[in-house]
Amino acid sequence: MRELKPFQNEPMTDFSKPLNQNLMREAIDVVRSRFGREYLVDIGGRKIATGRWIDSLNPSLPSEKIGRVAVAGTGEAQQAVAAASRAFESWREVPPSERAEFLLRAAEMVRKRRFELAALIVLEAGKQWREADADVAEAIDFLEYYAREMLRLAEPRRMGNAPGEVNLYFYEPRGVAVVISPWNFPLAIAAGMTSAALVTGNTVVFKPAEQTSVMGAYLTEIYRESGIPKEAFHYLPGIGEEVGAYLVEHPSVDVIVFTGSKEVGLQIIEKAAMTRPGQKNIKRVVAEMGGKNAIIVDSDADLDEAVLGTVRSAFGYQGQKCSACSRAIVLEDCYNIFVERLVEAVKSLTVGPADDPKTVVGPLIDESALRKVRSYIGLAEQEGTVLLKDHRPAELEKSGGYYAGPTIVAEVKPDSRLAQEEIFGPVLSVIQAKNFAEALEIAVSTEYALTGGLFSRSPAHIEEAQKRFRVGNLYINRPITGALVERQPFGGFKMSGVGSKAGGPDYLLQFMEPRTVTENTMRRGFAPQA
Ligand code: NAD
Repeated sequence: MRELKPFQNEPMTDFSKPLNQNLMREAIDVVRSRFGREYLVDIGGRKIATGRWIDSLNPSLPSEKIGRVAVAGTGEAQQAVAAASRAFESWREVPPSERAEFLLRAAEMVRKRRFELAALIVLEAGKQWREADADVAEAIDFLEYYAREMLRLAEPRRMGNAPGEVNLYFYEPRGVAVVISPWNFPLAIAAGMTSAALVTGNTVVFKPAEQTSVMGAYLTEIYRESGIPKEAFHYLPGIGEEVGAYLVEHPSVDVIVFTGSKEVGLQIIEKAAMTRPGQKNIKRVVAEMGGKNAIIVDSDADLDEAVLGTVRSAFGYQGQKCSACSRAIVLEDCYNIFVERLVEAVKSLTVGPADDPKTVVGPLIDESALRKVRSYIGLAEQEGTVLLKDHRPAELEKSGGYYAGPTIVAEVKPDSRLAQEEIFGPVLSVIQAKNFAEALEIAVSTEYALTGGLFSRSPAHIEEAQKRFRVGNLYINRPITGALVERQPFGGFKMSGVGSKAGGPDYLLQFMEPRTVTENTMRRGFAPQA
């Protein structure tokens, strides 16, 4: 194993440089030139056209088809799990340092293809340039970080200090991991979950989100080129309710790693808890789910910062991040001025196609997301005062893209549906609080506990928030999205998920079983010579 430098986050691309702008434009052209290609199910390197297809569309311009992706059914799922089970016996024996080396090679490949991968995210997921670039950088971070983490955890630990006895504590992989990923971080989350499972010695059956299955195929290609044995990784695009549900119930699956909605996550947890004939392991589920995140704006907050931070957190990637701010809880004394400045700031955001570098707010992922967000905008008119409604240029309609511009709703009641349910889109509710204690109470009043933020200049309030604003990731005087691997390990609790934080020191432990071996070393006499 080569000498590794300490982990460092991958820097973001500086798009103010004309060179980088050109590279990104060229990459978008290259990805466009591949439109319409077919991507097949890949079981241990064997490509399968199943006869059923999902079309992956550009959400900014749905008449553009990114590609056709073969839909895996239960037959393919069965084959993939059987192949993964067989391969486990040999993959688990590959030394951890070698498995880590594969991840580092994959990271290198992602780095080389950085613009191309970001361009695919722009076109397939509707992320704007900077957000797409951050998605790729995060994928590199996960690969680099988990490689190092595995090296740390691979060393058996000697426990206790009783004379005449050696106690070794070490970790072993669990078996077959099913990875079910969402579309909103099509590369980073998929790479994070799959690489964690692989590096710990599990074999992987990977089911990407329907909307971003082409990116799933690109990730598969990267793993194939990194040299990971083909039988250790299987690409199984398909419909969540069909192939996803089948995989969750399969008796030979040992770990399920899921990121997505609360509804699906809870179903998975329930189904995975049932043991089935032939099952040898109790399934472990790692589920990262939704949020209803709040930013509190205190009476003495720096409003320039608070407005900027709230706008970025609420409308970055059109509010389609699990960490996005969807409630601004504002103290009475600065409410009017904050709201006035917030609305003006949001009006200035450019809404448009994701591949246009001017765009700040792009399209939603698909038609069903658009319908849902529109129904919440309808609800907003009943539950609050709509200050800004679906703010965007009218001509966008012509493109057929799934656009919903920013919406701001004031005077929202803390217990209303608008203030309690996750809305995966650019809809921000503003809630007024009489004092800081009430603001904190409102902030934690939902069933979720993912991210939260506070803008304040009061040390006492900052201290109080650290204690009582109980969410997985709390941010003070900065936006609440964009957690970085290792620096801000990420994940929530309550209905936001179960498991330890992605990109943090406990994450890999979930993929392994700890074992203890105790040896009495007080043997008498000599062992006979062999
Ligand atoms: P989703 O739950 O609809 O889908 C996620 C994945 O689950 C997809 O691959 C889908 O095909 C699959 N799936 C659907 N039904 C299934 C079933 N019955 N059995 C097995 N698999 C099934 O979520 P989404 O729309 O892709 O993503 C958005 C959601 O993800 C939001 O709620 C967001 O908050 C959450 N999210 C959470 C985090 C986090 O770290 N906590 C990160 C990103 C996204």
